[in-house]
Amino acid sequence: MKRQAGQILIGGGVYALALCLSAGTVKLALFVAAYLICGGDVLWRSAKNLRKGEWLDENFLMSLATVGAFVIGEYPEAVAVMLFYQTGEFFLHWALHRSRRSVRALLELQPDTVLVRREGDWRHVPAQSVEPGEVFRVKPGERTALDAVIQSGQSLVDTSALTGESLPKQATPGEELFAGVIVLDGELELKALRPYAASAVAKILELVENASAKKTPTERFITRFARWYTPAVVAAAVLTAFVPPLIWPDALLKVWVYRALIFLVISCPCALVLSVPLGFFGGIGAAARRGILIKGSNSLEGLAKGSVMVFDKTGTLTQGRFSVSAVYPAEGFSKQQLLEIAAYAESASSHPLAQAIVQAYGKEIDRSRISQVHEKAGAGVWARIDGREVFAGRKDASDAAALAFAVPPQQAHTEVFVTVDGHAAGVLALADTVKKDAAAAIAGLKTLAFDQTVMLTGDRAETAASVAQQTGVEQVYASLLPADKVRIVEELLNNKRPGTAVLFAGDGINDAPVLARADVGIAMGALGSDAAIEAADVVLTDDQLSKIPQAVALSRFTLHIVKQNIWFSLLVKAAVMALGVLGMANLWEAVFADVGVAVLAVLNSLRPLVYKK
Ligand code: ADP
Ligand code: MG
Repeated sequence: MKRQAGQILIGGGVYALALCLSAGTVKLALFVAAYLICGGDVLWRSAKNLRKGEWLDENFLMSLATVGAFVIGEYPEAVAVMLFYQTGEFFLHWALHRSRRSVRALLELQPDTVLVRREGDWRHVPAQSVEPGEVFRVKPGERTALDAVIQSGQSLVDTSALTGESLPKQATPGEELFAGVIVLDGELELKALRPYAASAVAKILELVENASAKKTPTERFITRFARWYTPAVVAAAVLTAFVPPLIWPDALLKVWVYRALIFLVISCPCALVLSVPLGFFGGIGAAARRGILIKGSNSLEGLAKGSVMVFDKTGTLTQGRFSVSAVYPAEGFSKQQLLEIAAYAESASSHPLAQAIVQAYGKEIDRSRISQVHEKAGAGVWARIDGREVFAGRKDASDAAALAFAVPPQQAHTEVFVTVDGHAAGVLALADTVKKDAAAAIAGLKTLAFDQTVMLTGDRAETAASVAQQTGVEQVYASLLPADKVRIVEELLNNKRPGTAVLFAGDGINDAPVLARADVGIAMGALGSDAAIEAADVVLTDDQLSKIPQAVALSRFTLHIVKQNIWFSLLVKAAVMALGVLGMANLWEAVFADVGVAVLAVLNSLRPLVYKK
């Protein structure tokens, strides 16, 4: 950029000097010098591209237009076009650089130094040098530099930069804090969990920076568009230059060549090329600020087109934090025995139901009693415990004998059936609560004109109906196996309105196939879990469902701006082309319009960054 500034200044100086001189060889020589200083690199680039066979770009258009101007003797115009073009490019690059930096700054939340304990002293060291397991201190008002767990101290912490959650919360020892959290009113001693570069924030930053690299349908459209646009423009320019002088005897070749050159200059697609990715980048950055990680501009476009929203139940619409509320042993088992068998069977599972059962049991698990554990996603667990065959899971996955076991009537609880050697041992009833903002989120989607909201669950129909009633989800499919979930999402994909998208939100644990199958997969609260970040297109850093309508609204706004830019630049260009052909605009006015459109489009594409609600 410094070199470009020098080019503009020196070239501009030589140009001014040439303008002052009276006509002659010196004047012409100075024009040529100024032209080469300003436009030498453009000529060089178009020559290079010509050799590679990709000659139809803005470098080529600019070179053709200015060389043409020289040929017809419009020397000052030729230099002015290059000078303006370079100035505009300079300004655009500057704006682009600034806006990229401001997106980065929004997300650059990790301090570089840490007060860490080493060999008994507290020392300030570069955060990059801190290893997992080291203990560091954060004072009130500072940000945490690494993902860490609190060892001592307590404080209100502000996680808004990461999660978008504006209310500070009280953090106490044992709690994990991500890097980038502001400690408000107390000093904390924390133990680092991950190296600096592996922290959740560093991953978000990487995600956002790479996100705009993926091409969206809109961007692909522009590439396709440019492929016929530039040749069409060159052809139109050739026709403009030579046809009128052939047809009308009093049309001057020089005038029409000049008009054709205007046509070429204005046809540069730089505004589109720059502003489209920048617009997506702004939208993705603004979403990241709200705790919504969008993995690519194609996912952003998908969100914006959403018309069907599908939710998983457990951990998505509900908190996924179960507690055992009742234990119904079959004959021959006590409540305690039933709970023990179930806890042993579930001890290796990471399913929320399993964790609740192990927690309710509360005692140490003696692993030597368990062998041959086998879990089937969405069905349950089989294990050999003390030499007996134990099953814990859904009713229809258990043995026939267990089906005969009568469960006392109860409210909408999730049931886990337990059998031992093929005989019923009893049933555990577990309760889960619906997320606070679930109903608001679904109402929000309806205001955004979604056609359908759907819930998929492997749980039984009664529980599903109760959750649907509390949240307002319109359609419910219960007692599903993981494969059924994929099948239903495929049906929804087939039946959606053309041009719209099916979004699926799941907790990312056993929904990976569905997350991948939907147009846009949204994973819940999975920050730090690589698996979910891999499978999903969008990750919500906290579990809040209300982020979904927010993400959709922001994406629609971003896409709206991108389209606005496309139409705006095409219309202005068409207008100036027409004026040029009619002889009502000159060359440097055309450059001015071209650069002006590009700058406006770039500024417009920053609007998602300041988008509110
Ligand atoms: P959801 O569709 O609500 O996310 P899952 O697909 O994870 O639920 O599980 C569906 C059903 O399968 C659960 O309601 C439960 O009855 C049973 N199940 C799945 N995994 C387990 C497990 N580890 N222990 C007990 N039951 C399980
Ligand atoms: Mg689930």
